[in-house]
Amino acid sequence: MSEKRVIIFGGDPAGVGEALKQAEAGNKVILVESLPSLGGGHIPQTRIIADDTSFVDPNVEALKRHPNIRVITNAAVEKTSAGDGTYRFRVRRRAPRVDPEKCNDCRACIRVCPIHMYDDFNEGIGFRTAIDYFNPDTRDYNIFKEDMPICQATCPANLDIRSYVGLIADGDYAASLAKIRERLPFALSIGRVCPHPCETACNRGTMDEPISICTLKRYVADYEMLNDIKAPVEIPDEFRKEKVAIIGAGPAGLTCGYFLAKAGYRSVCFEALPEPGGMFRYGIPEYRLPTPTLMREINWILSHGVELRCNTRIGKDVAYEDILKEYDAVFLGVGAHAGMKLQIKGEDMEGVVDGVDFLRDANMGKDLKAKGKVIIIGGGNVAMDAARVSWRAGFDEVHILYRRTKREMPASPWEIDAAEQEGIKIQYLVAPVEVIGENGRMTGLKCLRMELGEPDASGRRRPVPIQGSEFVVEAQTLIPAIGQRPDLSFVPEGSPLSITRWNTFSVDQSSFMTNVPGVFSAGDVETGPDIAIRACAGGRKAASGIIAYLKARRK
Ligand code: SF4
Ligand code: SF4
Repeated sequence: MSEKRVIIFGGDPAGVGEALKQAEAGNKVILVESLPSLGGGHIPQTRIIADDTSFVDPNVEALKRHPNIRVITNAAVEKTSAGDGTYRFRVRRRAPRVDPEKCNDCRACIRVCPIHMYDDFNEGIGFRTAIDYFNPDTRDYNIFKEDMPICQATCPANLDIRSYVGLIADGDYAASLAKIRERLPFALSIGRVCPHPCETACNRGTMDEPISICTLKRYVADYEMLNDIKAPVEIPDEFRKEKVAIIGAGPAGLTCGYFLAKAGYRSVCFEALPEPGGMFRYGIPEYRLPTPTLMREINWILSHGVELRCNTRIGKDVAYEDILKEYDAVFLGVGAHAGMKLQIKGEDMEGVVDGVDFLRDANMGKDLKAKGKVIIIGGGNVAMDAARVSWRAGFDEVHILYRRTKREMPASPWEIDAAEQEGIKIQYLVAPVEVIGENGRMTGLKCLRMELGEPDASGRRRPVPIQGSEFVVEAQTLIPAIGQRPDLSFVPEGSPLSITRWNTFSVDQSSFMTNVPGVFSAGDVETGPDIAIRACAGGRKAASGIIAYLKARRK
C-alpha cells in the first residue's frame, strides 16, 4: 500500500471523520481548521457546563492521538499550486498568543480579560472574552479577535504596536524592544525617520490624539543606547554552509542580512559607497539621523554574522556573474539613488545639482559651495531635506518652488512646517522652464506660474501653465528634487532579469524572488522610491523567501 499525503480543510465533524478514515488507511493527514478549535465553529453547550461534566468528543480525542494526523488550527491557506499530480499549499497559522506548552488550563486569563465581545461562535447569544477556548474538546486557548489593529495593519512592517506600546506602559522596555526587533532591526533609526502612517490610522485619533507610536519606539531604543545597555545578539550556535550575497547595505539589505543571520545563514553585503546604511546614511540629513546612532545599529546588525564589504561596486569591482556563481542566493537591494532630470534647457550647467547627490555630498562632508541663493524644485521629503540642509550649510536664501499647492505637497506636513519655520520660502504654483546662465554657469531660473486644472492619474489636480506668466529668479544653485530611479547599470547586458518600465525589479510578492531562481529583491529597487520602513519590511520578507528557497534546494 503506497502512503499518500492528504490535506483536509475544515475541522467540523465531517472533516474530523474523514481525517480519521484517511489516517486509518495509512495516509499521512494534515487537517487545517480556520478557527482556534476543532468542531466547525459550533460551540457546544458543554462550553458553559462545569469541567467535570463536560462532554469530550471521542472522535476529536482519537484525532489528537493518531500518529498519522497533524492538526493545524487557527490557520488559513494562502497559496495553492499543482503539478505532477500533486498539490502544494502554503498555510499560514495566525499567532495563537497562548503557548500551549505553558498554558496549564487555569483559566485565570478568561476571568480577568477586559475585552468583552459578542459570542460570535454562538450566534451572538451572550458574551465571551477576547481570550477564551472555544471547545472543551480541545482546550486550545487563544486571543481571538478579528484581524489586526488598524495601526499594525497600516505599518508596512506590521509591527505589533499594541504589544510593544503595552510593554512600555508596563515599564518592560527590554521586552518592548525585543518585540519590535522580531520584525525590525532598525528601531533607533526608524524611530527617528518614519513618517508613521500608523499614527494617522490610529483609532485613538478619533477620540483625542493618536498614540505617539513612532516616538515610543524611539524612546525604548534610545533608552537602551543612552544607558549603554548591550543589545542582545541572538543567533544559532552554528551557521549553515550556504552563503548569501546581499548587494546594497541599505535598509532592505541589512534587514535581510539580520533575519538571515538569525535563521543561521551567513551573508556578505557588498556596498558601492564608503560606508553602509544606503539612504539612511546618504539620503537622510545628519540632523534627523545622526551617523553615530545609525552606526551603532548597523554594527549591532553586522555582529549577528553579516560580513560587510564597502567600496565594492558590483559590475566594476566584482562581476555580477561571479556573485551568481559564488553564492547560493543573491539579494538585490541597491535602492533608487539616481535623480530624475527636469528635462528643461540648461540643466547641465554648473550650479545644478540633483537633490539625492546634494544630500549624499552633505552627508559625506563635501564642500557644498553654499553661497548666494539656492532654489529647490519639488514638494516631497527629499526637497524638504535638501532645503533644510542648504539652510544649515549657509546659503543666504533658500527657496522651494512647487508646481501645485501646499494641499497637494507629498512631503510630511511637519517637515513643511519645520522648513517654513526655519526661514525657507516656499512658492507654490510655480514650475521651472529654463536654467539661464553665462559661460556654462547658472545665474538664474526662468519660471512659469501655474493654476490647477482637472485631477490627473495620481488623483491630484493637474498644474496648468498660465500663458504669459514667465518670470526669472536669480540664483546661483538649483537643486531638482523631483524623484529618483534605481541605477541598474550593474546588471549585465543580456541578463534574463525582468525589469519594469520604472527601472525596478519585479518579484513574486510572497517570496520576493525575481524571475531568476535564487535571485531576490526588495526595497526601493523593487518598489520604486518609498519610505524606509517599507524597504525594511521587504528585506525581512525576502529573507524568509531566501530561507525557504535554500531549504527547498537542500531536499
Ligand atoms: S515603523 Fe513607522 S509605520 Fe511602523 S509602527 Fe513604527 S512608526 Fe508606525
Ligand atoms: S489605540 Fe491606536 S496604537 Fe493602540 S491599538 Fe488602537 S490603533 Fe493601535
